[in-house]
Amino acid sequence: MTKWPLIIGAGFAAVVVIGTAAQIRSGTTCPILCMFKEKSAGQMTENTKNENEELKKKLTPLQYRVTQLKETETPFTGKYYKFNGKGEYVCPVCGNVLFTSDAKFDSGCGWPSFSSPADINSVREQTDTSRSMIRTEVICGKCGAHLGHVFDDGPQPTGLRYCINSAALDFAGQDPNAK
Ligand SMILES: [Zn+2]
Repeated sequence: MTKWPLIIGAGFAAVVVIGTAAQIRSGTTCPILCMFKEKSAGQMTENTKNENEELKKKLTPLQYRVTQLKETETPFTGKYYKFNGKGEYVCPVCGNVLFTSDAKFDSGCGWPSFSSPADINSVREQTDTSRSMIRTEVICGKCGAHLGHVFDDGPQPTGLRYCINSAALDFAGQDPNAK
């Protein structure tokens, strides 16, 4: 029984020695932590790869390109552009409620437009400097899927126009065209 502290002490010393050796080889200052970090980074890459494969199966090719690769669907072609169903629009990736039909309006821009998100946490906004423009990108508040952009030329009281790709929306409500 009295040998246990010695064995534990020796084990700890071995870890420190191995860690220090790794530190010397790699020139880092956090030997043991970095070994763990490298492992988890490799694990994350593998997980991301699997998640991407799952998403490709779950989404249509257009939904994948819009939500994951930030592409924009051709204007006036999306299935919700001229759509007047009453209900909620959810994220096709994670099911998060993004917008409601109450806030939908016809902006004439070629994409479904909303004056406000369903909830304060439904979407998040971030600066987008692609295509030599400074725009405000709108992403899903839960999974970060690309949805579209928001502009300040919308109707009152918000004055906002959330210009959203149909491919980044799934309608969950009463479809007037349903048979
Ligand atoms: Zn989402």
